[in-house]
Amino acid sequence: MSALPASTLLAAAAQFGTPLYVYQADTIRAQYQKLTTAFSAHPTRFFYACKALTNVAILKVLLAEGAGLDCVSINEVKLGLHVGFAPENILFTPNSVAFEELVEAKDLGVNLNIDNLSLLERFGATFGGSYPVCVRLNPHIEAGGNYKISTGHIDSKFGISIHQLRHLERVVKGTGLHVRGLHMHTGSEIKDLSVFLRVLDVIFEAARRFPNLDFLDLGSGFKVPYKPGDPETDVNGLGQQVAAAFKEFEHEYGRPLEAWFEPGKYLVSESGYLLVEVSTVKHTTATVFAGVNSGFNHLIRPMMYEAYHYISNLSNPKGPERLYTVVGNICETDTFAWDRLLPEIHEGDILAFHNAGAYGFEMSSSFNSRLRPAEVLLDGEQPPRLIRRRQTFEDLLAGQL
Ligand SMILES: *Cc1c(COP(=O)(O)O)cnc(C)c1O
Repeated sequence: MSALPASTLLAAAAQFGTPLYVYQADTIRAQYQKLTTAFSAHPTRFFYACKALTNVAILKVLLAEGAGLDCVSINEVKLGLHVGFAPENILFTPNSVAFEELVEAKDLGVNLNIDNLSLLERFGATFGGSYPVCVRLNPHIEAGGNYKISTGHIDSKFGISIHQLRHLERVVKGTGLHVRGLHMHTGSEIKDLSVFLRVLDVIFEAARRFPNLDFLDLGSGFKVPYKPGDPETDVNGLGQQVAAAFKEFEHEYGRPLEAWFEPGKYLVSESGYLLVEVSTVKHTTATVFAGVNSGFNHLIRPMMYEAYHYISNLSNPKGPERLYTVVGNICETDTFAWDRLLPEIHEGDILAFHNAGAYGFEMSSSFNSRLRPAEVLLDGEQPPRLIRRRQTFEDLLAGQL
């Protein structure tokens, strides 16, 4: 968990108003460097899973670091190209998309990761081996902090089942497809390295059936701490184990294989804060509610995934700690935190939700006709820069006929 000084965050809140997303570029760079250093023993590429946060200023920070981009929709692909990512540094990993969307991405020249046998068969029948592809497999490995963010399990819609390898081979041989990569992404927030190592075993086993591979993509699952003392994926340990496993497998396979990863949360989560203002403090027979000028329209992770977001009271950091239930102003149950010990809260105080960089603004909406927050980037010694203006009432009407 990284923490910007309260004075820096309060100054941003004063300058740009609340609710406000604030991101620190240096944290993103440091996370990227941690990964590249940890995996330096083997040729490894990192594709930022931009669904976590697509603001173009953030994409530019990662482009400058040398990252690639993992995209899950054609519009994310177009955003990446718009920002300047080369097509070969973009990986398109959609699911449940129409064939036409896949062809549109092919025409843009990006790497395709196909997760469905019927699409793969159609792609092979249309293009044969003229456009190499990656195939997304589902290893049926249970992983991740929460069933909703786990993608490799038996009920998951993602990928082609590892039990369908025989069918997959038939489709590849029958259509002359050129498979240059295999992919597995088992989910988010994997603490236990043994999960990655089990995925490695399964992907190597599958790779033996495809002789023309250039890379194996192990997806993501890098966990970051959400509160003091919370564990983080041991990327250095993982980097060493992956390098050793790849070396051994390459020896048998007879060709070099790059390792690819698609971290989202790991790169941007800790860089971000959602700053909100306390509108009301309400004592009920059950608890004390601190009601803030935000809700699940701005940060849905606590309500959708029961995610824990550390909260600090920037206005009264040294106040006596008291028990609060922190809620939003949406006409729905939008509880950010139950029974949270926080320095005494007064109406008008500014609170910060930490780890708000990933799946924060990106999952926001204008539910209740409330406006989306502004976004600000802090970069080194430069003055804070507004990278998305706050929505206005006119934005709510825009597009309505
Ligand atoms: C969401 C996603 C990721 C990123 O997951 P994080 O937990 O944010 O790192 C990577 N790969 C694919 C295919 C995804 O859908």
